Amino acid sequence: MELPVGMLLLLHCTIVVAAPGQFWHITDLHLDPDYNVTSDPLKVCPSAGNRPVTGAGKWGNYLCDSPWILINSSVHAMKEILHDPDFILWTGDDTPHVPNENLGEEKVLHIVEKITNLLKEVFPGTKVYPAIGNHDFHPKSQLPPQNNSIYRRIAQFWQPWLSNDSIPTFQNCAFYSEPLNKEFSGRIIVLNTNLYYDSNNQTGSMEDPGGQFEWLEEELKYASNVGEKVYIVGHVPPGMFEMKRNKGWFRPHFNKRYVDIIKKYHQVIAAQFFGHHHTDTFRMFYSDSGSPVSTLFIAPGITPWKTTLPGVSNGANNPGIRVFDYDRETLQIKDMVTYYLNLTYSNIESPRWEKEYRLTETFHVLDGSVNSMQAVLNKISTNNCYLQKYYEYNSVNHDLTICDHNCRIDHVCAIREVDYSKYDECLSTESSSSMSQQVSLLIIITLVVLFI
Ligand SMILES: [Zn+2]
Ligand SMILES: [Zn+2]
Repeated sequence: MELPVGMLLLLHCTIVVAAPGQFWHITDLHLDPDYNVTSDPLKVCPSAGNRPVTGAGKWGNYLCDSPWILINSSVHAMKEILHDPDFILWTGDDTPHVPNENLGEEKVLHIVEKITNLLKEVFPGTKVYPAIGNHDFHPKSQLPPQNNSIYRRIAQFWQPWLSNDSIPTFQNCAFYSEPLNKEFSGRIIVLNTNLYYDSNNQTGSMEDPGGQFEWLEEELKYASNVGEKVYIVGHVPPGMFEMKRNKGWFRPHFNKRYVDIIKKYHQVIAAQFFGHHHTDTFRMFYSDSGSPVSTLFIAPGITPWKTTLPGVSNGANNPGIRVFDYDRETLQIKDMVTYYLNLTYSNIESPRWEKEYRLTETFHVLDGSVNSMQAVLNKISTNNCYLQKYYEYNSVNHDLTICDHNCRIDHVCAIREVDYSKYDECLSTESSSSMSQQVSLLIIITLVVLFI
């Protein structure tokens, strides 16, 4: 039987244009199991340390990690907003910011299990790709490059999500790789980048802890040979923290190697997804000739906890969760919508998860592709209105102060330059150009005054 031309065309279009898919990215839930609403400012939450907490509300406080009710509400909000995502990326950090002595291996594992069970209960049948965070280990950040009881126990919790092949790999070093779905040829590579964290004393002197870099290259080589596209997922990201000048997380030799690998295999990497910052930002990677080749998205945390990192003045955030729209065939990011809970409002009135912003609407770009994200960066770096929008979303609408010229340099250089030495160059170029702009302005003002 011969099909009419129109029908053939229709069939062709259905095959070429893959249906758009959606997935969640959540990160840094940081449960504080001892959060309690009391008028004693030193007894609200252990995660505030010795910072007095006033005005503690039911849904949490900006000085504290998440009460259970906040975590529960965020996962149920996900279900209400998008009940049947293709999958969920969950990039780690489940335990409170308290000293190691107040946690211990059993408490850490109990919290990881509790949050795992919540996700299983609310999203039965949804595939979750979890990554381990530096707070999902005891002692914190000391993740070793070999098999140990914590990796083994966590692999058990995550058994319904991890494939049979991934379980032994995860037990060995907490990284794994899985095909995305049967229909298309996508792949998710989940890394244990805590091995590269400068607070990790187990791995600092090594060249390639756990052989993860070599394994990653093999995975990317394979993807390139079979024509697969991949997402790279992890907790601690490479590059600099945009809220504190010169603060990187990876040790320099690890940062360099990571950047080199992304540059080499960028054609198969559709996007990268990380957490750890608790802020909403992104990073760009470039070829040697300066073309943008890859984007790394950093999702805001669910915990509102204000960082104690010296030099960061207003490091709290509203809880945020994020949906990505993507092309199921090419894995290209089509859009990104961040939802959030205004903690102040929730404590006074009632909890309300609402849309914060949609990438394409807010930054007037076509999609979330590398070229569009480069356009977003160009807008942020040259237009104060876009810079200010980006800055407010960076803390999920918590810090609404003006992003001044030093703030602009910190954010723009962190987004543009993941490579440490290029970041340094960016700081000096941007500082001198803002200095020359100030000098020109001064000259203009003087001339105007002289001629009046
Ligand atoms: Zn965290
Ligand atoms: Zn972290």
